[in-house]
Amino acid sequence: MLNVLIVEDEQAIANLIYVNLSDEGYRCTCAFDGKKGADFIEKENYDLILLDIMLPVFDGFELLEYIKPLGTPVIFLTAKGTVDDRIKGLKLGADDYLVKPFQIGELLARVEAVLRRYGKSEKLLSLADVSINTDSRQVIKSEQIIDLTVKEFDLLVELVRNKNVALYRDRLYEKVWGEEFVGETRTLDSHIQRLRKKLGLEERIKTVFRIGYRLEG
Ligand code: CA
Repeated sequence: MLNVLIVEDEQAIANLIYVNLSDEGYRCTCAFDGKKGADFIEKENYDLILLDIMLPVFDGFELLEYIKPLGTPVIFLTAKGTVDDRIKGLKLGADDYLVKPFQIGELLARVEAVLRRYGKSEKLLSLADVSINTDSRQVIKSEQIIDLTVKEFDLLVELVRNKNVALYRDRLYEKVWGEEFVGETRTLDSHIQRLRKKLGLEERIKTVFRIGYRLEG
């Protein structure tokens, strides 16, 4: 399930986005100020962040600086008429922007377009001779079906969707297992070992010193 963070202090707008994206099958979290947004981002991996500009505590531009090193796609939510803000947002590295008030159809189209650009909404993923179907949850390597456990599969999808990005061990764990990482590294490491072995990815799933893992694609 794709994880979306909505950082927006106008609760009616945040709620509207939350309801509609949840209906489409996204897992959504709302933050009502910049500080709360940063807290969430620190704790969890998001596939996309919808970011308002005018926010209490710190604003969307400040938060964007914080998000950028993570490589998470960002869509700015901007008030009508603030063209300068939009240009500034795109220059600072946002992927797109939505002008408030917006139509739900436009919101969904832009969310999908940005996720597609990042290869995150793809149902068919591939890596070398391995292909993955996230609908049927089947993994095929050299025309043979490979049996993976639920967590091995989820972990593989997470790695493939974030190809060439060093993923922090704790975040990776929390995303796949959906529970807080409390220093239990062996579960994650043993799953990585099994994925390497079952799929012949020993050379591609790299251990990143002090960080976690990176899949080379
Ligand atoms: Ca606002």
